[in-house]
Amino acid sequence: MGIGNRRAVVIGAGIAGQAAALRLHRAGWRTLVVERAPARRSSGYMVNLIGTGYDAVERLGLLPALAERDLGAFTSILVRADGSRKFAVPAAVVEAALGSRAMSVFRGDLETALHQAVRDTAEFRFGTTVQAVAQDGDGVEVALDDGTTERADLLVGADGLHSGVRRLVFGDESRFRVDLHHMVGAFPLDRVPRGLDEGSGTTFIGPRRTAAVVNLGPGRSSAFFTYRSADTAADLERGPAQALSAAFGDLGGGVPDALAQLREDPGGAYFDSVGQIAMDAWSRGRVVLLGDAAWCVTLFAGYGAALALTGADRLGAALERHGDVPSALADWESRLRPEVVERQAAARRGIARFAPPTKAHIWAADMTMRAMSLPGVSRLMARSIRSARQSRRD
Ligand SMILES: Cc1cc2nc3c(=O)[nH]c(=O)nc-3n(C[C@H](O)[C@H](O)[C@H](O)COP(=O)(O)OP(=O)(O)OC[C@H]3O[C@@H](n4cnc5c(N)ncnc54)[C@H](O)[C@@H]3O)c2cc1C
Repeated sequence: MGIGNRRAVVIGAGIAGQAAALRLHRAGWRTLVVERAPARRSSGYMVNLIGTGYDAVERLGLLPALAERDLGAFTSILVRADGSRKFAVPAAVVEAALGSRAMSVFRGDLETALHQAVRDTAEFRFGTTVQAVAQDGDGVEVALDDGTTERADLLVGADGLHSGVRRLVFGDESRFRVDLHHMVGAFPLDRVPRGLDEGSGTTFIGPRRTAAVVNLGPGRSSAFFTYRSADTAADLERGPAQALSAAFGDLGGGVPDALAQLREDPGGAYFDSVGQIAMDAWSRGRVVLLGDAAWCVTLFAGYGAALALTGADRLGAALERHGDVPSALADWESRLRPEVVERQAAARRGIARFAPPTKAHIWAADMTMRAMSLPGVSRLMARSIRSARQSRRD
């Protein structure tokens, strides 16, 4: 095929898959996006886009669409188990610390913005998955479960943590999964959570668990839970309503109402065990993995969406630089890998922040938050964050 007529099949219409379709279109490629779900997801949990994540949103041209959906900064209140306030970090301090190049959006809103940008240029096939992959010297053949076989120059596996492309081309998930022995549950709240002022979020951090409930008004409120689990398979079996009620049912504040809403509609929740994906290579021939499918850094990194966007953006750029697909993939991976490795290591350290193993860790987190709320410290912090970002960009 000529260079202007190259074609990719992308498996997965999440952040990574749609960002890849968008960037590949700009690089002159035609794409088919195959998604297992019968329709696009629209809700999801809150994701923060700072640093490289914000940069990638900007480069992909998504800032105007996402600015409308930015949830903004909110007052962050650390609470005790009974829901009573320990102390608060005002929204203005959070905003000053993060700077202007930061946004918080629902994952579904990010996926919607991507979809609006790409739906007219890429072909989408929902309710479909991949069944077999075969490669030869100049192409890849992808057999789909709708009975069709698609031939392309590149297959992008952007099908998340439990990737089917990875299983078919690289091997079973168990070979690459690093279990972090935690569960995570996150979901939007249909009703504004009781006992919480609008524009604020409460966080309880206790030994081996964290619960956060955020009230940003109707249609914008959400809850987030993570805890250390002795048996993640058993917790998955029990499902989010039962498992999260057992792990957090003793807490006060906004938690009981959030759990009650979850029991009414458990289907809307994200609930999974937390595991990273560690692979020696993200591509084989003309098949490349992208996003959580390749490197899942987990929520403890707070950078998975950012890396999915950055990875897609740089994949398009590498394919523009190289006529030959395997060379482009090798170049792309060697540039991206150091950042992913760093984020994965940060995530493993981050466990102590989200689900502290000891009371000493909780105390340290408390002290950091308290220090942040002091005006002098917050100004200093904002300045140092800005200068660190500036030097990274230079
Ligand atoms: C609670 C929580 C909070 C987070 N907070 C942040 C944050 O603040 N900042 C940040 O940057 N990141 C955050 N993340 C991480 C981020 O959400 C993920 O890294 C990101 O969504 C990964 O996108 P993806 O497209 O690679 O995978 P996914 O979102 O998993 O998308 C995969 C897509 O592929 C589809 N699919 C799966 N299997 C198949 C198949 N066999 N065939 C066809 N289609 C298939 C799925 O239905 C889905 O649409 C958070 C994650 C969690 C769980």
